[in-house]
Amino acid sequence: MPVAEIIAIGTELLLGEITDTNTRFIARRLRENGVDLLRTSMVGDNAERIALAIHESLSRADFVITTGGLGPTVDDPTRLAVAKAAGVELEYRPELWDQILDRFRRYSREPSENNRRQAYIPQGSQPLENQVGTAPAFITTIAGHFVISLPGVPGEMEWLMGNLVLPFLHETYNLHEIIQVRVLHLAGLGESMVDERISELELLANPTIGLSAHAGQVDIRITAKADSPSRADSMIAEIESDIRHRMGDYVYGADADTLAGVILQITTGKNLNLALVDCGTNGELTRRLVAAGFPAANSRVISTPAPELDPETALMEQMQKSGSVIGLSASFLPGQEQQSVHILVISPNGRTTTTRTYGGAPANGIGWSVNTALDALRRTLLTIKT
Ligand code: ATP
Ligand code: MG
Repeated sequence: MPVAEIIAIGTELLLGEITDTNTRFIARRLRENGVDLLRTSMVGDNAERIALAIHESLSRADFVITTGGLGPTVDDPTRLAVAKAAGVELEYRPELWDQILDRFRRYSREPSENNRRQAYIPQGSQPLENQVGTAPAFITTIAGHFVISLPGVPGEMEWLMGNLVLPFLHETYNLHEIIQVRVLHLAGLGESMVDERISELELLANPTIGLSAHAGQVDIRITAKADSPSRADSMIAEIESDIRHRMGDYVYGADADTLAGVILQITTGKNLNLALVDCGTNGELTRRLVAAGFPAANSRVISTPAPELDPETALMEQMQKSGSVIGLSASFLPGQEQQSVHILVISPNGRTTTTRTYGGAPANGIGWSVNTALDALRRTLLTIKT
């Protein structure tokens, strides 16, 4: 499997003026086509620094894709930078100038003398005809490795990637492997506890296992490389069942599943009506459930923390009003040092109360308490027989 790097070029990227969505797009395409992406970087519009970045990338990777800096102005330095990195001059290519003139004619516009710059590419490079814009792209060979230079305009970069670059990569590297990803979602257990239970799996080379922690939720990412999607799927399935065995019902779902969605699935499946008292989360708990299909009328939202509120009385009232047999009340208490959530679940199996505290970033407190409350409800739902 060939190894690649991406260099996003543009001072406006470094200044935070625009978001680098091109790297993400290229990374996805490479993954889908079985190319290993080793590193991505971002460089301003400076030919010396871009040339240096290309050198560094090529010392690690088989090829590098650059995006941006191919326009007609002086501050579009990619052509010059690639020539520097390759140790060659820029060369005027009349056929590129013809293509540029042709493109301008079709847009009924006049090219400026500046546009002629775009007909210069590093000596010996292979042009990639840009059929959706004026900036020609090109591939330059440096010591058996490739620099593939694409424009920064997303539509042009995407067109070139799909129509010319991927076919080139398939032919050059005889690409046949693909990379498949599956993400398992867990709740109710901290990252370090998850890590402890699957630590030796995290050392595997293929599939690889990675963890990422969110407030009140941990994701386990399984990434497999294989000759075919079905082979990758079966490699993933094997590891997934091992992980599920180790983690039990801490795993609540995979990929696009959400806690709220899973809860609605269970309540619908078991034909249970749910009522809610949602206190102090700014309505976030309700919003998440409503987005998954929960009737908003079954929720009583109390915007500020209400010490005088007796959660049990409020929840019983709410359950009676909506004819529910399951009730969840969550009261979030913000704080600088420590935040907490009081959770009450009432079900045919009885009532459970839990108080959990959180020492993470205050900004994540509500997200954490919503996930924690939803998970407490999910656990109760799993125990209910119908
Ligand atoms: P042009 O011929 O239009 O000048 P170019 O190759 O010189 O193309 P840039 O000047 O670097 O490209 O960028 C043109 C525009 O494309 C930017 O103003 C920005 O809107 C968008 N763009 C550039 N790089 C990126 C990126 N990495 N991610 C998303 N958008 C980008
Ligand atoms: Mg430009």
